Amino acid sequence: MASVLIIEDDQRIRSSLASRLAERGHDVESVGRAMDGVELAVGGSFDVVVLDLGLPDIDGADALRMIRGVSSVPVIIATARDDESDIIGVLNAGADDYVVKPYSAEHLEARIRAVLRRTGDDAAPATIAVGGLEIDLNGHRATLDEEPLELTAREFELLAFLAQRAGTMISKRELLAEVWRQPYGGADKTVDVHLSWLRKKLGETAAEPRYIYTKRGVGVRLDAPPQ
Ligand code: CA
Repeated sequence: MASVLIIEDDQRIRSSLASRLAERGHDVESVGRAMDGVELAVGGSFDVVVLDLGLPDIDGADALRMIRGVSSVPVIIATARDDESDIIGVLNAGADDYVVKPYSAEHLEARIRAVLRRTGDDAAPATIAVGGLEIDLNGHRATLDEEPLELTAREFELLAFLAQRAGTMISKRELLAEVWRQPYGGADKTVDVHLSWLRKKLGETAAEPRYIYTKRGVGVRLDAPPQ
């Protein structure tokens, strides 16, 4: 959970991001003008700022410099420009990371988490909640609807990895590389077997998924069950 300031002039993007992040338990404030954002960013106690580069009043890059002049709050740049020199420029000007539009709330959230990990508030308990699932990353414990799950170390890692990127389809190759540390392995079976064990422990089946959705030839996605 993080307190997030979104500075974005596109009202549609702003409100959808704000509501998606709020749904996922974050404390979100959002503004459409750079100057309002700068004022809030330097005065507020935000964990992270998401700053659009193309803003109506002043350029996002200038807003970043103004924020950096007085504050070390982590800043993630959201840019529609995939121009490398822009991105290098804002990273050099003190941005912590960037996302290129269009990006999903889930993608942004993963970047937020990565930035917070790097800028380090390690005292904060790292807990991920997806629907009725709660995963305590530091304690290596997981619960489903408040009931503890008995998971092996590998099952826990698999669940935690999927939950950290909830809503995103992840290929089995990537799971093998990230969870099993086998970047060149072709052993899809390993992933399939662990997924089916994990499913069983979550009380679901491939035919009737609640949290774990697989798509043949594409990958697997963990998501909260539909309400
Ligand atoms: Ca814009």
